[in-house]
Amino acid sequence: MTEPFDAPEGPPAAEHAKSLLRLLPGETEELVTRLGQPRYRADQLLRGLYGGFATSIDDINGLPASLRARLAAEGYVAGIAQEAGHSQSEDGLTTKLLLRLDDGTLVETVLMQYPGAPGSHPRSTVCVSTQAGCAMGCVFCATGQMGFERNLRAEEIVSQVLHFARLLRARGEHVTNVVFMGMGEPLANYAETIRAVRLLTGARTFGLARRSITISTVGLVHGIDRLAGEGLQVGLAISLHAPNDALRQELIPTATPHSVGDLVAAARRFYHQTGRRVTFEYALIEGVNDTPELAAELGRVLHNLGVHVNLIPVNPTAGPFVRPSRQRVLAFERALRAAGVNCTVRVEKGTEIAAACGQLRTAAANAFRKAPSAPGRESPSTAPSPAPSPGR
Ligand code: SAH
Ligand code: SF4
Repeated sequence: MTEPFDAPEGPPAAEHAKSLLRLLPGETEELVTRLGQPRYRADQLLRGLYGGFATSIDDINGLPASLRARLAAEGYVAGIAQEAGHSQSEDGLTTKLLLRLDDGTLVETVLMQYPGAPGSHPRSTVCVSTQAGCAMGCVFCATGQMGFERNLRAEEIVSQVLHFARLLRARGEHVTNVVFMGMGEPLANYAETIRAVRLLTGARTFGLARRSITISTVGLVHGIDRLAGEGLQVGLAISLHAPNDALRQELIPTATPHSVGDLVAAARRFYHQTGRRVTFEYALIEGVNDTPELAAELGRVLHNLGVHVNLIPVNPTAGPFVRPSRQRVLAFERALRAAGVNCTVRVEKGTEIAAACGQLRTAAANAFRKAPSAPGRESPSTAPSPAPSPGR
């Protein structure tokens, strides 16, 4: 079936700076050999970008002046995104960056840290955006409410991770996980998402373990099947939010082509093909999808599938949706467990700086520039980054 929102493949926008960050190792080798250089120059470039986090070609060590000049003459750059804003939660564990891309497009990206055992490094998960805005229109999601601007290119996705990697290195830490759960629908920007995964997991590029990556989708079945066939070993999360089609379509107006049954079948195929069990995400909204009856219905739908459900008490956006009380959340969790489905309530991070699931929107990029209305520190890009918290 054709996905109505599958973006055309190829460059998503016409004019872009040519970034070395887009190139896979084989392509980097092709480039240096075309420029009359020995193949090992490719590794020098890749080490400079992914080991040294160079933001300009001049920062890459050891390159001959002739190669620098040729790269510049061909219009190549290293970095592709400028930091335009920076905010941090009060506990210092969630950081949101606003990045300005070379055509002026703004995107948000979030770092969530989970303290490890004393003396060990924290888990540091970067939540990347794959599109500026989103065309799916989920009624409870701030990104959906801002509409669709454009697809991001792979180098723009990778840049988000590198910005945090650089920030973490300054305090002796590193990125441990990447989740494709920021702005946009990753599988509606399929080719660039897959290229970004390859760049992030390649041994000669960013080198992250494939299992440390999770892609979250609103449920584009064709994309899920394609992803299963890529042999990438990444994790998959499907945003379900309702056990039946009528309710799901109220929450996700573009969900029509794929029924809940289609998604369950796709999750089963994904597991059979990859050996990785799918996670279902379910944003709990008071009085809408959070009753024990709906939990029991969800239990029947997911029974015997061996999937895990992440329950996310809905985060505030401009919409009229209310987060259920703790009691209601626990009652839903109990009812779902009683129906034989594994589930956990996701601990949300960064709601006070609008960095949690579904809160990213850059029409309000401005939120970075206004005085903060909620607790949490915000600073324009010109201010120094916040000092690391004690003990990290
Ligand atoms: N487009 C993809 C990935 C980005 S959204 C998707 O929809 O899966 C990442 C997750 O945040 C999804 O599970 C989404 O349903 C959830 N989400 C969106 N808005 C939310 C909100 N206001 N509160 C809680 N979760 C939300
Ligand atoms: Fe898009 Fe995901 Fe938000 Fe829905 S929840 S509007 S698919 S980003």
